[in-house]
Amino acid sequence: MNTRWDEVVIGGGHNGLVCAAYLARAGRKVLVLERRDVLGGAAVSEEVLPGFTFSVASYVVSLFRPRIIQELELTKYGYHVIPMDCAFQPLHDDYGIARWGDPELTRMEISRCSHHDAENYPKFKQTMTRLGRIAAQVIDRPAPTRFDPQDFRTVINLFRTVRGVEKHEFQQFIRLLTLSAVDFLDTWFESEIFKAPLAASGIIGTFQGVRSPGTAYVLLHHYMGEIDGAFRSWGFARGGTGSVSSACARAAEAHGAVIRTNCEVDRVLMSNNRATGVVLSNGDTINARRIISNLDPRRTLMGLVGEPHLPESVVASLARFKYRGSSGKVNLALDGLPDFTCRPGIGDHLRGDIAIAPNIDYLERAFDDAKHGSFSSRPFINIVIPSLTDPTVAPPGKHVMSCFVQYAPYELTEGPEAWESQRAAFGETVLDTIEEFAPGLRSHIEHMQILTPLDLERKFGLTEGNIFHGELSLNQLLFQRPAWGMARYQTPIRNLWMCGSGTHPGGGVMGASGELAAKTLLRKKI
Ligand SMILES: Cc1cc2nc3c(=O)[nH]c(=O)nc-3n(C[C@H](O)[C@H](O)[C@H](O)COP(=O)(O)OP(=O)(O)OC[C@H]3O[C@@H](n4cnc5c(N)ncnc54)[C@H](O)[C@@H]3O)c2cc1C
Repeated sequence: MNTRWDEVVIGGGHNGLVCAAYLARAGRKVLVLERRDVLGGAAVSEEVLPGFTFSVASYVVSLFRPRIIQELELTKYGYHVIPMDCAFQPLHDDYGIARWGDPELTRMEISRCSHHDAENYPKFKQTMTRLGRIAAQVIDRPAPTRFDPQDFRTVINLFRTVRGVEKHEFQQFIRLLTLSAVDFLDTWFESEIFKAPLAASGIIGTFQGVRSPGTAYVLLHHYMGEIDGAFRSWGFARGGTGSVSSACARAAEAHGAVIRTNCEVDRVLMSNNRATGVVLSNGDTINARRIISNLDPRRTLMGLVGEPHLPESVVASLARFKYRGSSGKVNLALDGLPDFTCRPGIGDHLRGDIAIAPNIDYLERAFDDAKHGSFSSRPFINIVIPSLTDPTVAPPGKHVMSCFVQYAPYELTEGPEAWESQRAAFGETVLDTIEEFAPGLRSHIEHMQILTPLDLERKFGLTEGNIFHGELSLNQLLFQRPAWGMARYQTPIRNLWMCGSGTHPGGGVMGASGELAAKTLLRKKI
């Protein structure tokens, strides 16, 4: 029987699944089509080696919107995030700095490099938490559409509509939107060492350096998270990040959505400039009243629809939207734990987030390499060992270690394809860098998975390997994500919508794009 679907969602990333769940909950007949054999997109868990479950791409959770957890009852379907209690910065010839849940312990640690910074850190955290709460109000609703670019007051009014914003907070907010991460942190701290791991949050997924204007916003983006009511808490999803996606999938199915994997969409079916269905790679056709794409804007419009169907202005704005992937990932299966020279032994400092970011100049030099078309000879690496917190992801006595690496520019001097011949060298550079702080790591490796930005593009369909479906720079946010006139999830093609991270409010495992796209669509009388 040829089913007539209300909505077909292209892509079973977590946003596509959230979108499908909301639509199905509202009584719509929804079908999700996922290209891979596994759901979740970049929020995925895979058993790469028997007994070892890798969060292959996304590795920590915090941004996922609490409202979605509640409305879709995701805890009932396996959503469980275990908060991390420590952020550790190993240093050469020193004890390193760890920031803990305990403020007094943290103060003592920071005092080792600066009393001034140790005293200021609680105030900084408080301010960032407050600003994160304000930003969260902006990301929890659709982007504004009516905006006059000539009138700066319009931006001010936009944020004035957010509940509870004080004038001085608004000023800080604007600073965060415009300054570099380092310039912003300079107003708080003096130590080039202590500032480094904080500044590193500002470059995640961005082809910019810590001193590039605009990176302070990305820093704020990483402060918007919340777990169980605690702001700026990052944690591990039990069973790996894919369990967030599978909870969304199970919620969608519980409301009647149908999900098919191994189903690649080749193109959107068009009739009189309207989307009427999709054609799969195997040639099958599926009709639907509306099509919603979880793919990024370029793949959706240039790839699945095609330039001849698009207005010139849209083609031009899609060409302007920057992807420029800058990150890679190395996942390790280990038979033992890394031992950091500066803080030997197996301690709680290994249970949280470990940042190879010894000082600001190190991070800026890492960007210099990328600017000139190579991966960083000494990269910023964000390490987590989730098996210490969640024993379900590795066999007893063994561990999984996830290394998020920056910079790994998609565009090498010799072009992206050159990653094929540079993948192994990239992996070795990552291990060499970690071994400078934790010698002997190599002897524990049972398996190593190296993902270059080219691999991220091929495996997950992330254009140019950008982890957020497009950079989170101010010119690509709010009413400009992904372009003027498309910020409310509708495309210029009638009945074709978007719900992925390339739409407001952007990347990260938030579910917000999927939720807001579904709710916007449901509000329309169509
Ligand atoms: C290496 C890496 C590390 C990251 N770390 C973190 C982190 O720690 N915390 C965090 O919050 N965020 C992190 N992110 C970002 C976050 O994972 C992404 O922003 C988010 O998962 C994107 O979700 P999405 O649903 O919008 O899109 P995607 O996850 O990209 O989903 C799109 C889906 O569409 C499918 N698809 C593509 N083409 C087709 C087609 N033609 N037909 C059918 N299906 C198709 C894909 O297979 C995919 O499943 C990371 C990302 C990466 C890559």
